[in-house]
Amino acid sequence: MDKKLGAKKTMKRELVPEPFDITRRQFVKTTAAAAMVSTAGFFGPQTASAADGDQKKKRRWIDTHIHVSDIGRDGKKREKMLEDLLDVLDRCDADLRFAICPDAGYVSRMTTDPAAMMVGNQMVYDLCRRSSGRLYGCCMVNPNFLDESLKVMKTCFEEWGFVQLGEMLTYIHKYKMSDKATEKVVQLAAKYNVPVEVHLGTYWHKKAGSSGDGMNHLTDLLAIAERVPEAKYILAHAIGCGPTPDYVSWADMFLDTIKGVFPKYPDNFWFEIRDFQCKALPRTIREVPTTRLLSGTDWTTRIGPPFQNYGTMFDIKEGANPFPPKVSSFVDFLLKAGASEADITRIGYENARELYKLPA
Ligand SMILES: [Zn+2]
Repeated sequence: MDKKLGAKKTMKRELVPEPFDITRRQFVKTTAAAAMVSTAGFFGPQTASAADGDQKKKRRWIDTHIHVSDIGRDGKKREKMLEDLLDVLDRCDADLRFAICPDAGYVSRMTTDPAAMMVGNQMVYDLCRRSSGRLYGCCMVNPNFLDESLKVMKTCFEEWGFVQLGEMLTYIHKYKMSDKATEKVVQLAAKYNVPVEVHLGTYWHKKAGSSGDGMNHLTDLLAIAERVPEAKYILAHAIGCGPTPDYVSWADMFLDTIKGVFPKYPDNFWFEIRDFQCKALPRTIREVPTTRLLSGTDWTTRIGPPFQNYGTMFDIKEGANPFPPKVSSFVDFLLKAGASEADITRIGYENARELYKLPA
């Protein structure tokens, strides 16, 4: 996530979690079976459905970095949030899956209210559990509230099957990855064997503020990685750029730093590619093992519904997108950057599938 979060506006409406239609215990009992059924269309053999058949012909793609909110900017509840989100997946030229975490008001509330963590993650869970395996949950916490964070993680990872911790929004929630409390959170993520997605400022911009403070974010990440080397780290939107040359990309500096600090590429670091038109993409393909690259575009539900097509850049109106907002555009950028078809399969799908331990 990047700037313009709308953190200043706190939500007027009380965030009330929707009641679940099954108890957690019942859910746990059925979750393995449900997951098998729900992912069968995606991962399993061809089924009889024509629509499903069309979907199967598409290139499979998992985005590891999506922010959603079922409350619009007007403060009103979006009653058809799941349908509107699945519509984006259906409209996509790829067989698309999202790893989702909270956005906007849910995030800002977590700055001051520890109870808001469970509420935000519950919103995510409610969407995931009704998505037939097309949405994966990412657990967002604020380690300033350590006890509540560990409790929320226990629920997300032991009961709800979430696949990732993060995005860790240090600049909004006012903590460091290298804080003692965050260390405990990261250690627990390592115990659950889920990756930790850490915000890195994507570019310097005169108005980016603390969100764009990429080099200090990376320094902080390197410090925690040294103390908790058993964790898996996702360098959120490390490879990206802004819509104009006024945004000075950190991507080359991130690549320089990783190369300068480590004798060989660290096996527990994954780079997210946010903007596939980024000038550093060819270098990224050359220097980062293609098993350690992910598609994480920071797409949000801030405009709509109907929501903008997947492939629209963060914080950009679809009409102003510098390329057609489609997965095939990402693929073209990757091909031009020197990626092979096998690399593209890994970057767009296989690496995330392995990281999230989804069925082959
Ligand atoms: Zn971010």
